[in-house]
Amino acid sequence: MHRLALLLVLLTATLPALAQDRRTDEHSYAQPDKVRIADLGLDLQVDFDKRQLAGTATYTLAWADEDQRDLVLDTRDLSITAVEARNGKRKWRAVDFTLAERDARFGSKLTITLSRQYEQVRVTYATSPEASGLQWLAPSMTAGGKTPFMFSQSQAIHARSWVPLQDTPSVRYTYTARVRTPADVMALMSADNDPAAPRDGDYTFRMPQPISSYLMAIAAGDLVFKPISARAGVWAEPATVDKAVKEFEDTEKMIEVTESLYGPYRWERYDLLILPPSFPFGGMENPRISFITPTVIAGDKSLVSLIAHELAHSWSGNLVTNASWKDMWLNEGFTSYVENRIVEALYGKERADMEFVNSRNGLKADLADIPAEQQVLMLPARTGSDPEDALGSIAYDKGAWFLQFLTTLWPRPVRPLPAQLVRQPRLPEREHRTVRRLPAQRADGQTPRPGHRCRTDGLAVGARHPGLRAADGLAAFRRGGRHPRSLAQASHRRA
Ligand SMILES: [Zn+2]
Repeated sequence: MHRLALLLVLLTATLPALAQDRRTDEHSYAQPDKVRIADLGLDLQVDFDKRQLAGTATYTLAWADEDQRDLVLDTRDLSITAVEARNGKRKWRAVDFTLAERDARFGSKLTITLSRQYEQVRVTYATSPEASGLQWLAPSMTAGGKTPFMFSQSQAIHARSWVPLQDTPSVRYTYTARVRTPADVMALMSADNDPAAPRDGDYTFRMPQPISSYLMAIAAGDLVFKPISARAGVWAEPATVDKAVKEFEDTEKMIEVTESLYGPYRWERYDLLILPPSFPFGGMENPRISFITPTVIAGDKSLVSLIAHELAHSWSGNLVTNASWKDMWLNEGFTSYVENRIVEALYGKERADMEFVNSRNGLKADLADIPAEQQVLMLPARTGSDPEDALGSIAYDKGAWFLQFLTTLWPRPVRPLPAQLVRQPRLPEREHRTVRRLPAQRADGQTPRPGHRCRTDGLAVGARHPGLRAADGLAAFRRGGRHPRSLAQASHRRA
């Protein structure tokens, strides 16, 4: 009793400071406590010859601090030619700006100096051919071989290489865009892509739900659409689209299953964009249109858990988002857990257990090479490192394992799924492989390393439930490194 009281006192004293620290994003120069982007308007030209996006970004601002005058944005390798400001519909006025020296990890801080709190600011800029968030492919690198292709990958901090932004997940904004391309190219964004849009080289987009900067996405190439259902479909090169529709034909069922588990799908359409094989990730949860590697089109649906993962982000990550990347496990651990719940509901418990055990065994193998202090879920502030270092098995698999562990303490309620969604358990015929994000390529050739620790989770749970039968397990999670023995057996016991 004594120890519990002491624990509660300590928690009460430390949590506010900890919460403050968790909201701060060390990977962005922006000052969202003083002013925030409420809406973004893009007007961009896609130039395949120059490997460049060029145009304007117009920000509608929400000022929070009456003394603030500067607007600080994140940029990387952008050339900025003009910055203007205005109120209402008045004339744009040129304003001063300073682009700081480039930092290898975080890019260049753009400071826009304003004489008053203008409602809108407009930046005229162009990207570099080496923009870290864009990939440009010659026609020979595509399936069709005739049309060039480009796409973005903004997570974690690459949006700043193609749009000046408050590039932190703690800021959400709506956006619109006009994108011009060569006439034979189709452009798509993480927005309201219209399956029936005429291909004419001039496209407009609207994203009415506020999103974080890492969810900004654009792609352009020889892309065609085929529906899976009224609200889901596949965008891909003509040579790939039919195979993809067949492989991912369960997508609508996945949406319905997830809605029955976690509430309505709130993004209207859910489409898949099948990218060329050079896409550096398995998938990316860009809202309304997940970007997917073609390597998961296996022909037998054995790798569709990747779609379950990206779809799951429509709830965990895109709707509820980590405020900074040091809490990346909140995005990825919850999503990996939800992914497994979708697989269980759609393909049966046997397959879900197999995938869970696969990822758990992969994590165990990884742990042998990860120093104990980097095996924790809640990362400390990591100003000197790239947030992508945390995209690894700790955030994904240990995070999901932790949530699975909690379900062994508090068994989840049994809610029968609608009968039409329940299928016979089905195991893939060939050996199953678990698909995860491939580690992002790093310039220094090092393998990305995840990190850190899970402090408050265990403490908070322990404080509320003294005498937990699995207190040892929680302690093991907090210390990192060890596998809670009760959990190792738990997967076979799950109800
Ligand atoms: Zn994910």
